Amino acid sequence: MIARFDLDWLKRQNERHRAFCEMLEIQPEGESKFTFSAKDNLCTKDFQTRAGSRILEGYRPPFDAEPVKRLRHAGGLLLGKTNMDEFGFGTFSTNSAFGVPLNPFDRERACGGSSGGAAVAAALIAGHAALGVSTGGSISCPASFCGVVGITPTYGRVSRYGLIDYGNSLDKVGLLSRNVSLIEKLLPVISGPDPRDPTSCCQTQLDMSKDRSGPIAVPKECLEGVEPKVLDAFNAAVQRVSAEMGREIVSVDMPSLKFAMPAYYVLATTEASTNLARYAGMRYGVMGNEYHQHFNDYFSGVRTECFGEEAKRRILLGTFCRMVGFRDKYYLKALSVRNTIIQEYASIFKEYAAVASPTMPMVAPRFDDIKNMRPVDIYLTDFLTLPPNLTGLPHISVPCGYVGKMPVGMQLVTPHWEEGALVKFAKRWEQGFEYHIPEVGA
Ligand code: GLN
Repeated sequence: MIARFDLDWLKRQNERHRAFCEMLEIQPEGESKFTFSAKDNLCTKDFQTRAGSRILEGYRPPFDAEPVKRLRHAGGLLLGKTNMDEFGFGTFSTNSAFGVPLNPFDRERACGGSSGGAAVAAALIAGHAALGVSTGGSISCPASFCGVVGITPTYGRVSRYGLIDYGNSLDKVGLLSRNVSLIEKLLPVISGPDPRDPTSCCQTQLDMSKDRSGPIAVPKECLEGVEPKVLDAFNAAVQRVSAEMGREIVSVDMPSLKFAMPAYYVLATTEASTNLARYAGMRYGVMGNEYHQHFNDYFSGVRTECFGEEAKRRILLGTFCRMVGFRDKYYLKALSVRNTIIQEYASIFKEYAAVASPTMPMVAPRFDDIKNMRPVDIYLTDFLTLPPNLTGLPHISVPCGYVGKMPVGMQLVTPHWEEGALVKFAKRWEQGFEYHIPEVGA
């Protein structure tokens, strides 16, 4: 496995698609086993780490995040940092302070978010592994929109050491690539306990040979509100899974999934609002230059200037949800919804090997259409990726059809720690279904 790549070609591609917000400047000498990229919220020694935010402009970490370190040790060459929604807040990567990445199949459309740049890098570069991060679907969604494979491991499988937090009880580091073969090789590399992230220390060992037999459940709730052409593509894919892979497909009811969206946005923004409190223009992030004023005025000045609109919205929403008087009504209620969804999945997994659904209810939208969407309309588009994320369950998105030239994704969810079965499924799927590769210029 030797990766050669032409940096000038990559720079030209990046001008067209803006996958990277910072990348190698000079062609490295020698060869590496594979190339990889890191989402901009993963700390890296050689590049800035800004998590898509102006408030982290100029931050150069003196260390690598654990997954980055492990990939380098495995012989990977880090090409650069991939563009993302600020701190992971978004579904289309339109909330980045460093330009909006453009879809590899159609530059007038979004790449998905928040790991949009990672999905573009995976689509454009052969043999490339993109490290992505998902809190509520940020690996599955861009994988679906950009026609690549994206795996989101079980919460706690991959160390979060060196990751800039969005929601600590939800964040997971995973991989995107053109097909599942590189993911199969590299998931074991980035997985495993790390004493610097205690949540990674109690995991059962990753067993890539372990499969799950039995029927696959398709929840009825996951088909409501899906665009008709996307639904057709998903239904055709499910028929192939049944006819060619010999898996029985059963339609089931999972009524609690409907509540994943409100519960997620309460929990995620609550955690995000406390995480962002550290960027006050002092110890973390950029500093202001007007020191002769009250602390509150100083730090709100820096935050007003450097946080984007969506980050501010989430700070307000999250702070509200955890305020005395509202905590029971929103935060605690959302926690109990989360438990109900965990239990519902557990009872489904007693009878079924996995849960399948479309990954996103639509193909990658046009930027013109995104402009007309209200924030809550955008949050609603996450309804299929939020349930497995809220419950910490591993999931994979594979391309399963095309509407015109735009890819459609199929998402498969298995019980905690059963990533092996996801990879096995994707491998079998790829034997019978050919993925389209975007046309790239010279
Ligand atoms: N779209 C979701 C959000 O905005 C999920 C993003 C993510 O996983 N980082 O929170």
